[in-house]
Amino acid sequence: MKRVGILAVQGAFAEHKIVIEQLGAEAFEIRQKADLTEQGADAIILPGGESTVIGKLLKELDMFDKLQRMILEGIPLMGTCAGLILLAKEISNDDSRYLGTMDITAKRNAYGRQLGSFHTKGMFKGIGEIPMTFIRAPYIESVADQEGVEVLAKVDGNIVAARQKNMLVTAFHPELSQDLRVHQFFLEQI
Ligand code: GLN
Repeated sequence: MKRVGILAVQGAFAEHKIVIEQLGAEAFEIRQKADLTEQGADAIILPGGESTVIGKLLKELDMFDKLQRMILEGIPLMGTCAGLILLAKEISNDDSRYLGTMDITAKRNAYGRQLGSFHTKGMFKGIGEIPMTFIRAPYIESVADQEGVEVLAKVDGNIVAARQKNMLVTAFHPELSQDLRVHQFFLEQI
């Protein structure tokens, strides 16, 4: 059975766990470094939350370098919302950089205050039309296409899902809908 570790230091990790279990895989929480090294994860999810807080905790809990190495070594990984920001090589409106393993430029809180949270539907390449919930979400301002970043979804012309090698990111929260197909899509890559 596939074992999916969900980073559980802050943010919306519980919902991911439920979805992964509904799809018949095993899910466990990554709360400390030992969970990264000893639990035998086949894949990892970086949930939504506050990228600044999660980034800081990854350092404080001494998980940052190990996680970054596992990603570079190819562990399948899905990042949603703050998880997308953590993976981005560039953040256009912030000086911080976190794991920086994916050749995308993210814009934090990209929809401004008026449109802090919203719900829509959009086409996701390889899946079809899916519900998309955005919560103070980023979007992907640009991708380095020579690095093989594939755009999977756009909303109003902005990139909201992409993948590169072992990394899949969404600006929206697929774990907050009843539609399990994005997680299914992810599990199929493992
Ligand atoms: N606004 C958050 C950030 O910048 C992301 C929000 C989310 O993950 N729902 O990290």
